[in-house]
Amino acid sequence: MRYKLAMGAFEYLKKYQYGQVHLKRDEASGLQAIVAIHDSRLGPAMGGCRFVHYDTDEAALIDALRLARGMTYKSALAGLAHGGGKSVIIKPRGEFDRKKLFESFGSFLNDLGGRYITAEDSGTSMSDMETIRSVTKHVTGVDPKHGGSGDPSPFTALGTLRGIEACVKFALKRDSLEGLHVAIQGIGNVGYRLAQLLHEKGAKLTVADIDKTKVEKAQAELGAQKAGLTDIFGVDCDIVAPCALGSALNTETVPMLKCKIVAGAANNQLASEQIGIDVMKKGILYAPDYAINAGGIINVAQEVLGYDEKISTDKTLAIYDTIYEISERSAKTETPPGVVADKWVEELLAKTS
Ligand code: NAD
Repeated sequence: MRYKLAMGAFEYLKKYQYGQVHLKRDEASGLQAIVAIHDSRLGPAMGGCRFVHYDTDEAALIDALRLARGMTYKSALAGLAHGGGKSVIIKPRGEFDRKKLFESFGSFLNDLGGRYITAEDSGTSMSDMETIRSVTKHVTGVDPKHGGSGDPSPFTALGTLRGIEACVKFALKRDSLEGLHVAIQGIGNVGYRLAQLLHEKGAKLTVADIDKTKVEKAQAELGAQKAGLTDIFGVDCDIVAPCALGSALNTETVPMLKCKIVAGAANNQLASEQIGIDVMKKGILYAPDYAINAGGIINVAQEVLGYDEKISTDKTLAIYDTIYEISERSAKTETPPGVVADKWVEELLAKTS
């Protein structure tokens, strides 16, 4: 079961339009890792390293392939000289030596000669990046005292704020967020910071989170209203900002929407391409997820060039222009914004071929 693929490996590569996939098994450390390089036309592939349990090797492979492809689009649209990559280290079920595992992963990255640069992702931390750094230079997200860029979430939140401002300018013809009502699903690292920034700009907030303590904090500190986990999508507001999990916009939530704009930081917000069309048909402006949430990767990519917070900030602020242009192209061509963004990236990549 564990080693059986439902489709042939090359069929998967075709399905996700690859690319290269590298596998490494190291007996001594117990490492079983996959590095997926989706596209390197714009530069070395960049993307996080996941360290989670997978029921099958197939699930690990699909995770890496799907996520790396998304990174190609995110980096290209953010104007970064990076392709898309992602890696997974299959988390062993029994006992393991974490340090040895990540050192072994570091030597895997050396084998790849810099074609893939790793970063933190689900299940990995700065201390794992530091372990990798002891073996290879093809790593970001290291300790700021070693030139690291620190927590990416504030940059993701800042970029998302700028994306919201661009949508507000385009759809509501307003320069200010003062008095606008934003409903945020998920007030974790990015969502809470976004809520703070919106509060500073005079927006009214409604929030939902499975973690009650975060909701209570937002009520006390930011004067936010609370909503139920599904009700958040039906709040009578100007903007809905999904900042929790993927597929927030689906056949259940889209009919509930009463807002004029959907713009948030979560990855993979549209459950399907059809959902993007449904949102547009309701007259709601959607900010494509990988375009609006690129602040984190912009900040991490700056680490490769020599970390400079001011440059990261300026590039993140420019997300406003990207979202505004997508909105304009979408309106002109009557095409959903997500499709416009994909097409824009494909044009950029084609120019480099
Ligand atoms: P996080 O885990 O810190 O926050 C997620 C929050 O959502 C948590 O507070 C969690 O309790 C809440 N949540 C989970 N399920 C929920 C539900 N059904 N309803 C309401 N709340 C729910 O994660 P994060 O780093 O803030 O990232 C949030 C989203 O943004 C994710 O989709 C992530 O992939 C994406 N993103 C994050 C970054 C970054 O820099 N951290 C960059 C790009 C994209």
